Amino acid sequence: MLKLVGFSLLVLFSSERPATVEGVYDYYKYHPMSEIGVWMVQMKEDHPDLVTRVEYGTTYEKRTISLLKIGLKTNAIKKIAWMDCGIHASEWIAPAFCQYFVNQILQSYKTDAKIRRMMENLDFYVTPVLNVDGYIYSWKDSTTRLWRKNRKPGPSTGCYGTDLDLNFDANWGNLGASFNCSSDTFCGTNPESESEVKAVADLVRKQRGNFLCFLSIQSFGQLILFPYGDPNDTVPNYNELMKVGQDAAEAIKKVHGQNYTVGSFPNVLYPDSGSIRDWARMQGIRFSYTFKLRDKGTFQLPEDQIQPACEEAYRGALRVITHAHDQIYGGGAAATAATLWTLLLAAGVTLM
Ligand SMILES: [Zn+2]
Repeated sequence: MLKLVGFSLLVLFSSERPATVEGVYDYYKYHPMSEIGVWMVQMKEDHPDLVTRVEYGTTYEKRTISLLKIGLKTNAIKKIAWMDCGIHASEWIAPAFCQYFVNQILQSYKTDAKIRRMMENLDFYVTPVLNVDGYIYSWKDSTTRLWRKNRKPGPSTGCYGTDLDLNFDANWGNLGASFNCSSDTFCGTNPESESEVKAVADLVRKQRGNFLCFLSIQSFGQLILFPYGDPNDTVPNYNELMKVGQDAAEAIKKVHGQNYTVGSFPNVLYPDSGSIRDWARMQGIRFSYTFKLRDKGTFQLPEDQIQPACEEAYRGALRVITHAHDQIYGGGAAATAATLWTLLLAAGVTLM
């Protein structure tokens, strides 16, 4: 009976709101860009008190790059927790995670005092798909499924795409990058030569002092990686980044028993340069990580693993964000004046 009701509701709405009615959108499937776009608008409409959609750039193929800004609206200057997904087109689990993350925090803030408190103090800036052109191309057919880069034509004819995670102005072009535009690791013609990278950099520069933490969600490998990509350059808060990363890995392991490896990027993988992670750290953002989600061998994570992958990564990401938040605002989920007020009102206390 319940199933029937759900089904008829879906049919009822399907003409105008395809697959995006709250509670019906399937977070455990991969969605093409068109559906993710509709979903973003729906999130804003379902939660007008909390969600704003911010368009902050344009891709090479003239598509809009946008993020969801999520938090309680106040007149105070709020801190920012950044999350980008889909910087590499082939890593479909990443956009799936950003959507899961948004839905989770929106569902839980009513009952979870800690989430609510974080929403008072900071805004979550979540970009579900940063490399929009590349993501759409990876959905074209099986021959393009593993496309990684954006879709801008290279400096020589017949080659396309720059790896956006090598194009930031952070030791650009020096390590793990290629200047051959046919390569999967082509780093662009100069730092921020790609409009997608420029969009992020301009947005961050405008509010540089407000960013608390910066998470670039990618795949695969089950890794939590921090700056710098140059093995000879040690990040000033190395021990802190290691400790918080290990806490996140522990939180992840508790969910489904999966092991995540933590370390600086070159210590765990290989030297790189021009990454979004290193660049964010160089802007003074203290907690900057690349998360590489499940599994340990493929960009094509089977759909039946989306749910466990998201559930565990959610705990890990939240661990980092909570730590960054608590450093400024103190720990605990103690009620602030605003939440106390809400609780009293909910309890029916008469105001005098
Ligand atoms: Zn990646």
